[in-house]
Amino acid sequence: METRIITTKEIALAAAEIACGGLVAFPTETVYGLGADASDPVAIDKIYAAKGRPKDNPFIVHCASISDAEKAAYITEDARKLFELFSPGPLTVVLKKKPLVCAAATAGLDTVGIRIPASPAARLLIKKSGKLIAAPSANISGRVSPTSAQEVFEALDGKIAYILDGGECSVGIESVIISLAGDSPVILRPGKITRNELQQALEKDVLMKTSAGDSAPVAPGMKYTHYSPKIPTVGFTDIDKATAAAANEKDSVIIAPESLLNWEIGNFLSLGFTIDSAMRRLYSSLLLAEKEFSKIYLFVFPDGDDTDGLNNRIRKAIHSDLE
Ligand code: AMP
Ligand code: MG
Repeated sequence: METRIITTKEIALAAAEIACGGLVAFPTETVYGLGADASDPVAIDKIYAAKGRPKDNPFIVHCASISDAEKAAYITEDARKLFELFSPGPLTVVLKKKPLVCAAATAGLDTVGIRIPASPAARLLIKKSGKLIAAPSANISGRVSPTSAQEVFEALDGKIAYILDGGECSVGIESVIISLAGDSPVILRPGKITRNELQQALEKDVLMKTSAGDSAPVAPGMKYTHYSPKIPTVGFTDIDKATAAAANEKDSVIIAPESLLNWEIGNFLSLGFTIDSAMRRLYSSLLLAEKEFSKIYLFVFPDGDDTDGLNNRIRKAIHSDLE
């Protein structure tokens, strides 16, 4: 199959592809998604096949509005509060599912993750297709998520007909996922919207689920090994130690905040000056490093409410830690 990158001028092609049971990669403000009609199990199966994704890992259902969301899930009072405050935006709320969403899209769960993306192209695609769009990130399962149309092309060329180009993603890491389907709110995956912001909005405690188990990783990289670059990726907190280690390896690259970099020595990719820019640049830096180098030294940020989402992805990318 020929894979074409198209712009929003040709969005009708992408919408028709979704409406007739095909797959389209599309931009959101977090990362690019690989979407299909959320009500069509045959279309949903094509996503699992294209990504090589385990069938027990559900997709997020993307909606254009809160009234769209009401077709897919039972919206609680707390969910409405969060959607009104943070949507459209990088927020996914897990709620009891309605029958419109097929079982394949939620891996058989009776809950569904609902998101209203801020990207205008994403919401236009949902509206024009007349469907709700189930989508995981548009990467091969276990690999780094794409934040540009070109990165999607490199991952999925030949597997899908269209990649809708909406430019580079402004947030850069996947949405926060908060479950409101249980007795109390739980963050299943941290993101740009922080635990404190969610607690303030809900005026109640929000728990943080840190991994499949329930204890926090003792050191970066100890528990997580997915979202991983193809080349060895070493986590560090001390720039002097990383610079010394990398100095002996001319094919290695240090990925770190701009303020830590000494451009005179070694190879560097900058994450910029702020937490927001680090989120925006993390995945594209990892994908670029994979192509041009053979080893990555990746900075682990100090833990904090604002770095939970960023550090979660960084720890998943890391294979080992610098001694
Ligand atoms: P991705 O962003 O590609 O990793 O895919 C969506 C993520 O949302 C996965 O990590 C899922 O485990 C999570 N997710 C989607 N629906 C649910 C749900 N109903 N309950 C818990 N997690 C979910
Ligand atoms: Mg993903």
